[in-house]
Amino acid sequence: MDLRFTEEQDAFRLEARSWLRDHVPSVSDGTGPLPSLDTADGFEAHRAWEKTMSDARWSVVSWPEEFGGRGVGLMEWLIFEEEYYRAGAPTRVSQNGIFLLAPTLFEFGTPGQQARFLPSMASGETIWCQGWSEPDAGSDLAAIRSRAERRPAGAGDGGGGWVLNGQKTWCSRGAFADWIFGLFRTDPTAGRHRGLTYFLVPMDAPGVTVRPIAQLDGETGFAEVFFEDVFVPDDQVLGTVDQGWSVAMATAGSERGLSLRSPARYTEAGRRLLSLYRDRAGSDPDGAGRAADAVARAVIDAEAYRLHTYWTATRVLDGAGVGPEASMNKIFWSETDLSIHEAALTLLGDGGELLDDDGRPPGWLDGFLFALAGPIYAGTNEIQRNVVAERVLGLPRA
Ligand SMILES: Cc1cc2nc3c(=O)[nH]c(=O)nc-3n(C[C@H](O)[C@H](O)[C@H](O)COP(=O)(O)OP(=O)(O)OC[C@H]3O[C@@H](n4cnc5c(N)ncnc54)[C@H](O)[C@@H]3O)c2cc1C
Repeated sequence: MDLRFTEEQDAFRLEARSWLRDHVPSVSDGTGPLPSLDTADGFEAHRAWEKTMSDARWSVVSWPEEFGGRGVGLMEWLIFEEEYYRAGAPTRVSQNGIFLLAPTLFEFGTPGQQARFLPSMASGETIWCQGWSEPDAGSDLAAIRSRAERRPAGAGDGGGGWVLNGQKTWCSRGAFADWIFGLFRTDPTAGRHRGLTYFLVPMDAPGVTVRPIAQLDGETGFAEVFFEDVFVPDDQVLGTVDQGWSVAMATAGSERGLSLRSPARYTEAGRRLLSLYRDRAGSDPDGAGRAADAVARAVIDAEAYRLHTYWTATRVLDGAGVGPEASMNKIFWSETDLSIHEAALTLLGDGGELLDDDGRPPGWLDGFLFALAGPIYAGTNEIQRNVVAERVLGLPRA
């Protein structure tokens, strides 16, 4: 692994930095910060930001140019992410699409599906949500009961396809998203991990009902999604019928591995944590001293995750896959996120838990509350530890 960047990569970094400096919504010119993306207004404001980035071809830098990218490599994407977080740019409302579904479309999609779905994903015109979890299928995803039945060509109103019935839950941004990707059981007689198929469904298809789930803070980013006799044509099946589990595991690999959580998210939070530590050391040296070890640990872990990711990227560029090691990544980034925010709240003391005048949690507290969910979403850390034990370490099943 060579940790030096090339001249071209340095130039790419400076170009990204300069564009972000001129365009990221900011407090100083009254364009930022954007309202929460888990509100209707905030969702649309974030969508508009995606369009601004896409117009300048910054929304999906590593994709081929024909789909809206710049055709640059994985290293440049990591560099762009560092600049993105450094600039304090908005959370990506399109993340389920660009970071999870897109890699799966590149691997399993037909050329027709890639041409149809990728450009509108890059521009923010189509925002996707993920429909996997069900009320009785979370950790045990293979227990899903939502089903799809074959409707041959000529039946009903014409072309062949599938009729979907069932319920999904905990769909992030499901209250506002345009399309959903999800797993449905197509062969009820097959084993649990077989007989599943991966479908792409517009949220305004007849028979789809979206019921937002109100969160404690009043926002409604999550939704339950109900399917009642929803017709989906054959060309909205991603991958092979009945082989959806392996397609879904490719998406999960992206979610746990490289693409959903780039290290910049944590190194930037680590940088802000150090700055907070220095401030507090001036006003409350004893308090800061008590948090010093936790601060150091969290900042070192963020940097370790960054170096580990560059190592992984180097291996991927050499042709290796990520595989079940993605589960180690997921444990590490979610626990690092928690340590960073816990250390910040320790530094802030009791005052760190007070809400702002408008009743919203201030930055570190808000980040901490979200970090608490990290060990749950993208597959709980208990399940990831099982995967690491069995598939990385080769230990026997408990
Ligand atoms: C912020 C957030 C966003 C989410 N977004 C989405 C989304 O967009 N789309 C979507 O489909 N889902 C989403 N989810 C749902 C998420 O995938 C599930 O919450 C998760 O998979 C766990 O499932 P569950 O909630 O049903 O918990 P359960 O599966 O009931 O687990 C409960 C507890 O038991 C433990 N446990 C279960 N089985 C085992 C085992 N075999 N060994 C050891 N421990 C075990 C779990 O680790 C957990 O601690 C999101 C969740 C959160 C918190």
